Amino acid sequence: MTYLRTILVAALLGAAFVSSARAEKVQAGPKGGRLLETTPARAEFFVTPEKKAEVVFYDAALQPVAPGTQVVTLTAEVPGGRTTVALEPTATGFISKEALPDGAPYRVVLQVRSAPGDKPQNHRIDLNLAHCGGCSRAEYACTCEGH
Ligand SMILES: [Zn+2]
Repeated sequence: MTYLRTILVAALLGAAFVSSARAEKVQAGPKGGRLLETTPARAEFFVTPEKKAEVVFYDAALQPVAPGTQVVTLTAEVPGGRTTVALEPTATGFISKEALPDGAPYRVVLQVRSAPGDKPQNHRIDLNLAHCGGCSRAEYACTCEGH
């Protein structure tokens, strides 16, 4: 019994470790946004001065690349209702057709597929557009330790 409990505790600790490691620190994207681990190209999510959401794909050297087969879906979980944000392709990714809904901070979910029909990878971002004095980045892309 004690042995089983030890295994259970170890499993729980392992799970806790994995989940905290997954909430790893934010990686700074070249455009001031948040760099996401997506494949085959890495993606940066950022908000333009016009409050449009933009996704830019990069190669390993962080040079912008054409999106290739990767497709993204963006959902804004605005209080009172979630909405799908319509995106249009750019040379290096996607940009929202309209400005993001007002009411930030709210959660956005960027769903990335390596190719249409593939299993999606969900990236949840707390869309806080306030300026962080610590790192001079927007809070959603803040790279400060500890928050
Ligand atoms: Zn910061």
